[in-house]
Amino acid sequence: MPVMLGMPRPAMVQDPLTAGSGVAPLVDVHGRVHRDLRISLTDRCSLRCTYCMPEQGNEWLAKSSILTLDEIERVARAAAAAGVTTFRLTGGEPLLRRDVVDVVRRLAAIEGPAGRVEVAMTTNGIRLPELLPALVDAGLRRLNISLDTLRRDRFHELTRRDRLDDVLDGIAAAAASGLHPLKLNAVAMRGVNDDELADLVAFAGDHGAEMRFIEQMPLDVGHTWDRVRMVTRDEILAALAVRWTLTPVPGRGGAPAERWLLDGGPRTVGVIASVTAPFCGDCDRLRLTADGQLRNCLFSTTEYDLLPVLRAPRQPRGAVDAGVDGMLRACVRGKLPGHAIDDPAFLQPARGMNAIGG
Ligand code: SAM
Repeated sequence: MPVMLGMPRPAMVQDPLTAGSGVAPLVDVHGRVHRDLRISLTDRCSLRCTYCMPEQGNEWLAKSSILTLDEIERVARAAAAAGVTTFRLTGGEPLLRRDVVDVVRRLAAIEGPAGRVEVAMTTNGIRLPELLPALVDAGLRRLNISLDTLRRDRFHELTRRDRLDDVLDGIAAAAASGLHPLKLNAVAMRGVNDDELADLVAFAGDHGAEMRFIEQMPLDVGHTWDRVRMVTRDEILAALAVRWTLTPVPGRGGAPAERWLLDGGPRTVGVIASVTAPFCGDCDRLRLTADGQLRNCLFSTTEYDLLPVLRAPRQPRGAVDAGVDGMLRACVRGKLPGHAIDDPAFLQPARGMNAIGG
């Protein structure tokens, strides 16, 4: 299936958010305005999901290359000044980073042309019971928690860790925290959890959360992705339609998930169909890896290295900030119209999802 890019956009885009601020927005040559920066805090993780990382032999990022709190804040400030409104912290497992609460506090205080930014996080939830009060106090506003199965034996097999109870405790803590909307993410996998899709939706609903299913993407470290094993958007919808009437929710904007009301609502479900129904035409996301590489797409094989800019000796603050801004703009300029997974020449990125930042 070809990549669907929507209508071509004019290269000159008026951005209401940055208009009058004196700052040019982050608009690419296809007219996409960038609002969302995914910030990976570490490539380390407390789980070893088979579709993401191998059990052994991971090549971890060198400690010296990991961005410091000050460096992350600096990049985030430059992005916010250029119209980015959301920072989503991810990894690896973001809650493994020792100063994660300080990261949230510093980022949540940043003001862009439209006011305060929003700080969100994607996590496996394991450390939430311990950290959530401090994270909320620091300014965390939204949470996505990954949960691929409700069965303990399956969870153990899939993640190579016996930690389902910890994840469920994390989800309970998130549900009790009042953070809204709360989303649970599952990668749908044939013969692994595709008999649990409706159960996961029901579980999410019972916790005041929206379940979202992700099509498996070719982003695993071991390059073992196989299209045949991938459960497609249409298969997910067919499985859910056995239990609920699904009504599309309009107004998706740049969001990765298509959403449906369950039996007329208010409960909803989402599907992120990056492979069979790509949404590149509306992508408003950039990524910052834990080691300071800017990326304009999950699937890109090009990275824009911020480390020399951030760590150049004897540079005045203004020069570093201008360098970061320039790198953000170069990254946006280099963005391709689509991810081209279906192109026979498609090359999977060298890094896995844990190092790119999911
Ligand atoms: N550790 C955190 C977590 O578990 O949510 C954040 C990082 S994890 C890489 C972010 C999300 O990427 C998770 O929901 C995970 O299921 C998803 N993911 C990882 N590898 C994937 C793949 N090959 N295809 C689709 N989703 C993937």
